[in-house]
Amino acid sequence: MTDVKTQPVKATLVDDIDEHVGTPGAFEFVNHYKVTPEGRARARQEAVEQPAGMFYVCPCGCGHQGYLAIRPAVPEHPSWAWNGNREAPVLSPSVHHVGHWHGYLGGSDGLQPGVWVSC
Ligand SMILES: [Zn+2]
Repeated sequence: MTDVKTQPVKATLVDDIDEHVGTPGAFEFVNHYKVTPEGRARARQEAVEQPAGMFYVCPCGCGHQGYLAIRPAVPEHPSWAWNGNREAPVLSPSVHHVGHWHGYLGGSDGLQPGVWVSC
């Protein structure tokens, strides 16, 4: 499978990403990456001022989820700089959901906050 180019996709802030797999570009902030349902519920309650990362639904429309660690992050993990805006986030560098979609949350120049923009 190769990456697909999409029209700009609105990034929609949601409370529970698992209920929005049908919404390409939906995202949820969490405080820590937890794999158990209980852990994830606790993590999203704690994600108030400085989230540790975000789950997102692949903008290509496949319904797959990904996770992006927000800086400062555990050094050995890839991580992204966030503009601090929960409703209209901008991340840098680009997001590559390998085999699906490659682009920027907020545009390559950061001038489209809250929108997933294909490369
Ligand atoms: Zn996809």
